[in-house]
Amino acid sequence: MSRTWTNWVGNQSCTPAEIVSPDSEAGVQSAVRAAATAGRHMRAVATGHSFSPVCATDGTLLAMADLSGITRIDEDAQTVTVRPGTTIAELGDPLWAHGLALRNQGDIDSQQIAGAVSTATHGSGIRLQNMSASVRAARLVTADGSVVLIDENTPDLLFAAQVSVGMLGVFTELTLALRPAYQLREHLQYWNLDELARGWADGFERSHHFTFHYFPTAGANDLFDFEAPDGLDLARMSRVTTCDVISLDEPEQLHSDPRVGRPYRVYPQYCAPNFHELEYMVDFAAGQDAFGEVLEVFDRYPEFATYPIEVRSTAADSAFLSPNHERRSLVISVSGEPGTAYQPFLQAVHDVLLGYQARPHWGKLHLFDRAQLEHVLPRHGDFVALRRQLDPNGMFLNDPLRPLFS
Ligand SMILES: Cc1cc2nc3c(=O)[nH]c(=O)nc-3n(C[C@H](O)[C@H](O)[C@H](O)COP(=O)(O)OP(=O)(O)OC[C@H]3O[C@@H](n4cnc5c(N)ncnc54)[C@H](O)[C@@H]3O)c2cc1C
Repeated sequence: MSRTWTNWVGNQSCTPAEIVSPDSEAGVQSAVRAAATAGRHMRAVATGHSFSPVCATDGTLLAMADLSGITRIDEDAQTVTVRPGTTIAELGDPLWAHGLALRNQGDIDSQQIAGAVSTATHGSGIRLQNMSASVRAARLVTADGSVVLIDENTPDLLFAAQVSVGMLGVFTELTLALRPAYQLREHLQYWNLDELARGWADGFERSHHFTFHYFPTAGANDLFDFEAPDGLDLARMSRVTTCDVISLDEPEQLHSDPRVGRPYRVYPQYCAPNFHELEYMVDFAAGQDAFGEVLEVFDRYPEFATYPIEVRSTAADSAFLSPNHERRSLVISVSGEPGTAYQPFLQAVHDVLLGYQARPHWGKLHLFDRAQLEHVLPRHGDFVALRRQLDPNGMFLNDPLRPLFS
């Protein structure tokens, strides 16, 4: 009997011919071979936290949650090897016990590792790369059911696989580079636009982590419901978060101001599934101008000034499809409210940021066509060539991805 699958936020759904939940690499191989024999397409799904249609399929949906757990922590090499369905949250305590930590992480920790790296999930920090860049090795089940080993000896394959949006096959194991454990002190400030302009360069360039949420209207805070200082009118203000690395000896204080603690306890925040997010990366050097133009879009569409803009930064990496490919980025995200006709607003943000050679976050909404992608991603063609080699029949493509990558 067919079942409907829906993503976390509820804006993507599909009715696959079958949903298979393998708990071993051999199980993945036999599911792939069975789908190939039946002529079915296949998509892997992790926790479905992508806003974009990257998991939907009318063929076999491979639900990866049962293939989870840490395989190995190597203290000397500072790496962890995990099965793909392991969540980010499941790594914090075990890595800490070995004096290690993820190199960075984002706003939530519920994603599976394979899901997070497949879409170039990132945190903030101009010297910190996205999670995909920390992938050092992988086991990948490809369209013929065989297992391909990927590591630094296969550099092109590694750079293609690091951000592959499920199009090269199914990861059954991933090895990530780590860093020594560290603690953070988090400072919160509220800045008006003048203060933001003055503090921008120092904030991004000097801090370990720097991010801000800009509220076009006071009501825009309702999305995350951040606790703001009493009596502060949040309209056209930014909630600025700075995190600095501090000694491991400082006692953890997660409920004080400033907060002090382990990164995997400081960074994750609660989010309710009530926003449809688009996120683009532009060259960091042009980021302040790009942000200014996005503010002008809000002036043109005041009815959509109800959600904040989140702004972060990311270091460059070498993955072919990475939005940070060989370019450090300013990351700008805006959201539409479910149930409203927000498409013209997102299109206006797209048009403005395309003028800045923006690149999309694969897990968020985007409006790119193939020509635009080929223009902004210099290794798009190399990714497509490898994809065709590994999956000549396009088994791992779906309707939204096919026009962009066939
Ligand atoms: C509330 C919220 C907060 C977020 N915060 C951030 C943030 O701070 N920073 C950021 O960058 N992003 C953020 N995101 C986006 C999110 O990190 C990405 O969309 C991520 O891909 C979701 O992970 P997932 O485990 O749900 O993967 P899914 O959405 O289930 O899948 C993502 C992709 O991975 C592929 N995939 C999954 N498993 C495998 C496998 N085993 N082998 C091969 N391919 C596989 C899927 O086919 C799909 O293409 C956020 C999303 C939400 C909803």
